Amino acid sequence: MRQKIVAGNWKMNKTLEEANILASEITGMVADEVKGDAKVIFCVPFPYLLPIKNQLGNNGRIAIGAQNCSEHEAGAYTGEVSAPMLKSMGIPYVILGHSERRQYFGEDGKLLAKKIDVALKHGLIPIYCCGEPLEVRESNGHEALVKKQVEESLFHLSADVIKTIVIAYEPVWAIGTGKTASAQQAQDMHAVIRKHIAAKYGQSVADAVAILYGGSVNAANAKELFACPDVDGGLVGGASLKSREFTEVIKGA
Ligand code: PEP
Repeated sequence: MRQKIVAGNWKMNKTLEEANILASEITGMVADEVKGDAKVIFCVPFPYLLPIKNQLGNNGRIAIGAQNCSEHEAGAYTGEVSAPMLKSMGIPYVILGHSERRQYFGEDGKLLAKKIDVALKHGLIPIYCCGEPLEVRESNGHEALVKKQVEESLFHLSADVIKTIVIAYEPVWAIGTGKTASAQQAQDMHAVIRKHIAAKYGQSVADAVAILYGGSVNAANAKELFACPDVDGGLVGGASLKSREFTEVIKGA
């Protein structure tokens, strides 16, 4: 059985004070109310990684992640943050290939393959995002595109390594729009991704890979989405910024 994961993507939101309050409220609610054993991850802006990590202390339920890292290990890349830096700070997870990075920062599959490699080289666990824009879904090209996104950035990895990756399927038309994929649409695409991995690496490898759904997950829809057999939890944007709402999402896992 794969462990459920609920990762909050805070994006570029909150002041430090607000971030500390949010983390502390969710931590308290999770400790008091969440019965299941879902892993929770706070993917916070770079400047808040250490303060929030220090606040979490040795919390066994909640881990911390970054939202991006450079494809370079070090050097003259002003403003960038490297995988070795994250590792040296004790950050275990990093989101790579979020659709906002693809759209606003021109990140493509080839670049993301490099970021995946550098993250893995330094012992980080990538949360690799894939997903189709609305026009691709409407022209029925979504399965082909998502399979290509998975192939171009992950299929150079060995079976032992790809097993350790977390994939997040996030249809772009559902991100921040309030329009969620139906549980059936999510399950169908997750099954396509898992089958694609199985065709290359074998079923036992595919069965080990965690595949999260992302796109307007909230307290009202989390339970149904997370109950799908191939949906191993969620990557949550807007709802992760509200402590009560995010706690309810976690309870759905
Ligand atoms: C995301 O940013 O990864 C995301 C899924 O956002 P939202 O939940 O707001 O749609």
